[in-house]
Amino acid sequence: MSQHTDVVVIGGGQAGLAAGYHLRRQKMGFVILDAQASPGGAWQHVWDSLHLFSPAAFSSLPGRLMPAQPGEEYPDADHVVAYLSDYEKRYDLPVQRQVQVVGVHDDGRLLRVETTSGTWHARAVISATGTWWRPFLPAVPGREDFEGRQLHTVSYRRPQDFAGQRVIVVGGGNSGAQIASELAYDTELIWATQRPPRYLADDIDGRALFDAATARRRALNEGRNDSKGIASLGDIVAVPPVREARDAGLLKASPMFVRLVRDGVIWADGTREPADAVIWCTGFRSALSHLSPLGLRGPRGHIATQGTRSVQEPRLHLLGYGDWTGPASATLIGVGRPARDAAREIAGLLGVAT
Ligand code: FAD
Repeated sequence: MSQHTDVVVIGGGQAGLAAGYHLRRQKMGFVILDAQASPGGAWQHVWDSLHLFSPAAFSSLPGRLMPAQPGEEYPDADHVVAYLSDYEKRYDLPVQRQVQVVGVHDDGRLLRVETTSGTWHARAVISATGTWWRPFLPAVPGREDFEGRQLHTVSYRRPQDFAGQRVIVVGGGNSGAQIASELAYDTELIWATQRPPRYLADDIDGRALFDAATARRRALNEGRNDSKGIASLGDIVAVPPVREARDAGLLKASPMFVRLVRDGVIWADGTREPADAVIWCTGFRSALSHLSPLGLRGPRGHIATQGTRSVQEPRLHLLGYGDWTGPASATLIGVGRPARDAAREIAGLLGVAT
């Protein structure tokens, strides 16, 4: 038997919760379906030492400031999980856990949401499933030949797991730099990046990045394109552990190797480098497979959006994921605004008086 509601939100991480906050303000009926057994979305699964790149007060969802974590200017992931759990309770958000959405279908007047525990019919859907669940691995020749350990960022936990080993960290983004910086002390680290690492200025943290995203949004809204956005500032936030390892001369990057072999890698000049493990810090793609029955996917796997709304399916909104669903919408502080816009648009579409 199918259940009915105005809006099904898929995903109960920070983006899904921010959507719930604003749907409640718009007085809409909704449910949040989340695959995880407990609150916190991807934050429950990150590596042990991860800290936010912004202070607590600049990492807040709408309505409730993240409290400071005693002794830490930049809170750790456990603190974020506690904050999200509390947020969900405080606003009494109807999250149903261990419910995996397997497909969203167009049933004419309504959207049909098929899950691992039943079917929902809704007048609109907000997809907020994040990226953590779709790790990306580049097609490097010989990947299947390597007999050492290979893992993606999502499976990395702590440097002790690699003590004394020769470890190749691949990737010049934040995950790569942070994981390389903590492996630099007790392993024989090789850090391979496609282009030389580009550090943001040491005084730039998540606050400044958010300001840059806001300035860019303002410029675009006003029809100007005079700000090149966050990417122009650099790739790596020089968080304290990264800065320390870099300044100690421990973070030397090499250009990418050309292939993997049984016991290591081959560099462009033909030299062979032995390795025990390769850690692929090579990013993520949006977790959108549940939307494939709608047939909306375009180039690069994205769905064409206007703000958060799907251009082809106006009853569908996408939240989080990346700048393509709203500037900084894949951040704690940035998701509030697109969540508000999505809820307002859906209220307008459904004719819900607020
Ligand atoms: P998620 O946290 O991934 O939540 C999505 C939820 O949807 C999950 O619970 C998942 O299980 C569920 N789900 C997925 N598919 C389905 C399905 N089919 N059916 C039902 N449920 C489903 N942002 C900051 O603001 N500050 C930072 O310092 C920061 N650091 C980061 C560090 C790393 C290493 C990474 C990867 C990201 C970081 N981010 C940071 C970015 C962002 O805040 C996080 O990625 C955040 O987890 C995104 O939240 P989300 O709600 O969009 O997705």
